[in-house]
Amino acid sequence: MRRVARLALAALSGMLLAVAAVSARAAPSPDPFLGLDNAARIDADCRRLQHDLKADERALEQARADTLLPALDALQQRAEALVGPLDLLAAVHPAKPIRDAAERCSSAVQGFFAAFLQNRRVFARLLALEPADAVDAQARRDRLDAFEDAGIALAPAARQRALEINRALTRLGQDFERRVREERTRVAFGVDELAGVPESVWRTAPRDAHGRVLLGLDYPTLDPLMQKAERAATRERMWRAANARGGAENLRVLARLADLRREYARLFGLDSYADFVLRRRMAGSAAAVGGFLDAVRQVAGPREADDLALLRADKARLLGTEPAQTVLQRWDVEFHLERVRRANFAVDQEALRVHFPPEASLRFVFAIAQRLFGVRAEPLGPAPWHPDAQAFRIVEAADGRPLGTLYVDLYPRPDKYGHAAMWPVRAGAAGVQPVAALVANLDRHGLTLDELETLLHEAGHAFHALLGQTRYAQHGGTSVLLDFVEAPSQMLEDWVYDPAVQGLFTQVCAECTPIPRETLERAARARDFAKGWRTMRQLLFASYDLALYGPISSTTRGPARETPLALWTRLESATPLGHVPGSRFPASFEHIAGGYAAGYYAYLWSLAQAKDLRSAFASDKLDAAVGRRYRDTVLAPGGEQPPAELMRRFLGRPASNDAFFRWLRQP
Ligand SMILES: [Zn+2]
Repeated sequence: MRRVARLALAALSGMLLAVAAVSARAAPSPDPFLGLDNAARIDADCRRLQHDLKADERALEQARADTLLPALDALQQRAEALVGPLDLLAAVHPAKPIRDAAERCSSAVQGFFAAFLQNRRVFARLLALEPADAVDAQARRDRLDAFEDAGIALAPAARQRALEINRALTRLGQDFERRVREERTRVAFGVDELAGVPESVWRTAPRDAHGRVLLGLDYPTLDPLMQKAERAATRERMWRAANARGGAENLRVLARLADLRREYARLFGLDSYADFVLRRRMAGSAAAVGGFLDAVRQVAGPREADDLALLRADKARLLGTEPAQTVLQRWDVEFHLERVRRANFAVDQEALRVHFPPEASLRFVFAIAQRLFGVRAEPLGPAPWHPDAQAFRIVEAADGRPLGTLYVDLYPRPDKYGHAAMWPVRAGAAGVQPVAALVANLDRHGLTLDELETLLHEAGHAFHALLGQTRYAQHGGTSVLLDFVEAPSQMLEDWVYDPAVQGLFTQVCAECTPIPRETLERAARARDFAKGWRTMRQLLFASYDLALYGPISSTTRGPARETPLALWTRLESATPLGHVPGSRFPASFEHIAGGYAAGYYAYLWSLAQAKDLRSAFASDKLDAAVGRRYRDTVLAPGGEQPPAELMRRFLGRPASNDAFFRWLRQP
């Protein structure tokens, strides 16, 4: 059940403009969340914002050529000053009226942009604009693409339909995520059924009238249960509950999303939504993605078979059965993975928590950033939406110059977004400091190395967002092509296993017991164990996403009326472990309901870039000179240059997938 951490796409990104920012014309508000603790005030602020945006739009219709790009950026910043914080609050605020008001406003403002991007007067001015330099040329090209993708060049009836579809997609995407977030599933277990599960996971959990322990599906509960519960029936019940999230209703919503996105692509004369999306991406086409995934499958497929044979043999050993007669179930995988890892590498993830208290782990992440990027984090106190969340000012270590603000919200609670993600609350630009929020669901008792990786992954996104040095907010930080955005985050995951990097832990936590070097080395070897299985799982998710949003006529899409669940059942049935009847994973597959639609392949695609990027650090992951070059050439330019160009400048050569395939082939 490895989590797939994502970048939370700000409301206006992907479909419309880039990501969040405040107005460059005003000094940034010291607290972007000021006043957003009252639903009526949010509604009022939102009405005022829409009024102001319409006034900005009228002014833009008359804007002089030399002011057009800054004025477009200012319009985006004005919107994001409110919608950026609200998008985060919709996912983390404890009060439902606030979350609902936040969603309402986000939806209304996205509706404004769907219409704005069909404004032919503004479009004509942009077309006529002669860019002053390369940055303006890229900004103009990206803005023109956004207008074209919103339907500016379509005939009137099709343009109207594009507008309706964009509004419906926003609303349905919100419905899908809300249903997953607000689900309160509890699975009841007698204490005897929890044999093997660490007591810290369930001791303080609520009980039902029969005294049974009620367990939720948050990661600090789900992960250790799936890895440690000795009874298969216990794991099965938990697995089935986790794979039923979102319910039949979300499957209907997903079908509607897929239909609407297909219809949208057809307005543009394209066969599928995948074709519509991928023509703007680094990959360039569905064929290029397909070719990459096929190459991955050729290497990872046989390795997966070996991994599963090992797990099956372990199950047979445990039960005293013949391996050939032993069936490995989906809820057995994490349990036997953990057993084999413990047997072969003597690494017990649960036992590692003692080394990594959450607050110290956060300081550790900041210490890495200080060494690599030359920045420091200064605590600013609690965040406004919950006492568990904290704010930090990120400053230049050399001279204390403030660079931006980072909010950190680490622990699970009811109705909170359930995975790990980074929200780019406000994009940086000339004269505007960025704001980012790192959200996770960690165990308060301490982190495993897996969780420490997750924390570094999200920190990779956060520093990408915070260290941008761009002229426009439209290019700020993580406003890069989606199939590059997971590269800086995935690159940093490896840092966890480096002994020199771990040495920083003693500097940030004198009372913490350092992880013994020998344990760390074993953990590093154990980490890559079963990468065939894990890679093939990612490949299945990516293939499913592309099939759902790909052309109906293709062989992968199957019958025209195949539902999202039927498609999933068919693809998963073709994998070695098959499909479990009654499970419905796609009902909670939030990535592809939202901004990662036809984009899930980006995790594997970006991992190839991450492996290439990290090769520059060679044997010293704390090399300040390389870190500085990375900050300047990859993080700072944000979306001002194409990803391939960022990579070339950093590496001193064209990017390559060789390091990734070498890693995949390694025993
Ligand atoms: Zn991510």
